[in-house]
Amino acid sequence: MRNRWDEQEAGQFDNDLSLRAYSSRLIGSDEDLVLHGGGNTSVKTSVTDLFGDEHQVLYVKGSGWDLATMEPAGFAPVRLDVLQRMARLEALSDTEMVKQQRAAMLDPAAPNPSVEAILHAVIPCRYVDHTHADAVVALTNTPDGEQLIRQVYGNRVLVVPYVMPGFPLARKIVEMTRTTDWSALQGMVLMNHGIFTFADTARESYERMIRLVDEGERHLESNGASRLARADTSRDINHERLSRLRQAVSFVAGAPMLVRVDDSPEAIGFSELDGLESIATRGPLTPDHVIRTKRVPVIVQEDVDRSVADFIDEYKRYFLNNTDGTLQCLDPAPRWGVWPGYGIVTFGSSPAEAGIVLDTARHTIRAIQWAEALGGWRALPEKDVFNVEYWELEQAKLKAKKDRSPFHGKIALVTGAGGGIGKACVVALLEQGAVVVAVDIRGLVTSEFARTEVKTVECDVTDAGKMKKAIDTGIREFGGLDIVVSNAGTFPAGRLIEDMDDDTWNRCLAVNLSSHQTLLKYCVPYLKNGVDPAIVIVGSKNVPAPGPKASAYSAAKAGLTQLARVAALELGKFGIRVNTVHPNAVFDTDMWDDSVIRARARSYNLSVEEYKSNNVLGTKVRAVDVAGMVCEMAGPVFAKTTGAQVPVDGGNERVV
Ligand SMILES: [Zn+2]
Repeated sequence: MRNRWDEQEAGQFDNDLSLRAYSSRLIGSDEDLVLHGGGNTSVKTSVTDLFGDEHQVLYVKGSGWDLATMEPAGFAPVRLDVLQRMARLEALSDTEMVKQQRAAMLDPAAPNPSVEAILHAVIPCRYVDHTHADAVVALTNTPDGEQLIRQVYGNRVLVVPYVMPGFPLARKIVEMTRTTDWSALQGMVLMNHGIFTFADTARESYERMIRLVDEGERHLESNGASRLARADTSRDINHERLSRLRQAVSFVAGAPMLVRVDDSPEAIGFSELDGLESIATRGPLTPDHVIRTKRVPVIVQEDVDRSVADFIDEYKRYFLNNTDGTLQCLDPAPRWGVWPGYGIVTFGSSPAEAGIVLDTARHTIRAIQWAEALGGWRALPEKDVFNVEYWELEQAKLKAKKDRSPFHGKIALVTGAGGGIGKACVVALLEQGAVVVAVDIRGLVTSEFARTEVKTVECDVTDAGKMKKAIDTGIREFGGLDIVVSNAGTFPAGRLIEDMDDDTWNRCLAVNLSSHQTLLKYCVPYLKNGVDPAIVIVGSKNVPAPGPKASAYSAAKAGLTQLARVAALELGKFGIRVNTVHPNAVFDTDMWDDSVIRARARSYNLSVEEYKSNNVLGTKVRAVDVAGMVCEMAGPVFAKTTGAQVPVDGGNERVV
């Protein structure tokens, strides 16, 4: 455990609160201490109000803030005397506690105080730090946990049996410490939960945390418990089963989910442990983790549908066994899974969410193995886990975060994604919440695409082998496929039929027609496992209204349209919709440069401006307009439509 305190850096912070934020960030930057919003910190200090009156307050971490990025604004200032009086109440409901804490805040714009505010208030030290350090929790989650903790820390810490966080935990500690000499203590270990340290300086409180956790880690090491199973070979995951698993989980969750796969040596090693089914399904590391991971992972077997069905049966049993009859069952979908021989998988409606679950799962599988080596991994009884999972305060937090974008959790693949209509489609799909596999023959290292929601693949669409790989890369990245925008195309220089050379003809058909057949061929098996799957084909006005000198292009696009119609017929029974958009005169694409536009305009005896809006509506058609139609075709408006062809061309006299 590294001590990250830097006296020079700390010296820049000249008040209690900014120093508190600094050492909170030190804690937050160590994943072995806390993960994604876990843990909390506080400082007791005084503030002077508008009238010049001084108040003693507890600045405590606000709900929704992450220690890793903590700032003074992330702390809620609560009157210390009110919190201390609340700690002496016989009973206090969660809702009442939150209400009273808000009422006692000196800044109504500050975030809600942590649910541990009362506990922080009763500890008679200026600085208090709380983490869920892996090593400490692993020690407590064993049959002789309490004894192990006493063996490692002696009398320096108070050992607190597991109590539900919030008011009950604060009450318990008040009762336990009526005659305690706090100055003899460096911290408290909360069984199955975590560790507190405290001191009158920020540095001492932080360093006590580091020292105590470090001693826990060393105890693991010296007892040979810190070794982890590792597999040196990884097997290729079966992409079709992966997409099937994602579909099953999405249906149960009631919304499309993404999958993250971890096939690192550690993840595979864990997945191959003897007795995995027992070890992996005893419960979470701490009840706090249940919000992210649910109580247990799904064990992925050969039959993925059966595996998910078994998980749901077990979840329903757990709910019915523990509900008091007034609660509503949450969605029973798993949040992570162990796939024997392949590693671990996590589910989330965004890459960030699936990533948070993955981080949590990685720490969980390590701590499980440490505890196993110390006599046996033992999680909390499921009733305690249930009480946190169904805790009204946690449920409120989750509800506040739901994203309602139309394509949230959906996975799209766009070919020809590097420019023009393809790029506009990527941007529009991202805006509506989808993640996108962006395929283009050019490298796609642009700022728009440098984000976790996009997987770029450089690939020539006419190379069938590489296309198959590109599609599989997307499946591996996000777990499945729901939307395919078959857009890649090329527009060769105008040429009369009698002047047409074979290469131009063949290349035009290869890109504009055959590559789309290849794409569909390889995507369909995954789309069958998609969520409301849809294919959108980018055709052309040249299909209903061809032009001279464009034989290859017009013939290819006509063939493509026919391919789409047959695809609609073949795929309807799988619920896969296939629709075609026919754009015309979209000038903000790579197919057109100024000299071509000028030449075309001249040949029609029009100015460039007239030529660009030479349609029934007299409007300019842009790539973004076509992308808008593509999104509609992939979305709910076209839920009952397949085999359709819709122009986006401002109206064409030859077609209308
Ligand atoms: Zn905690």
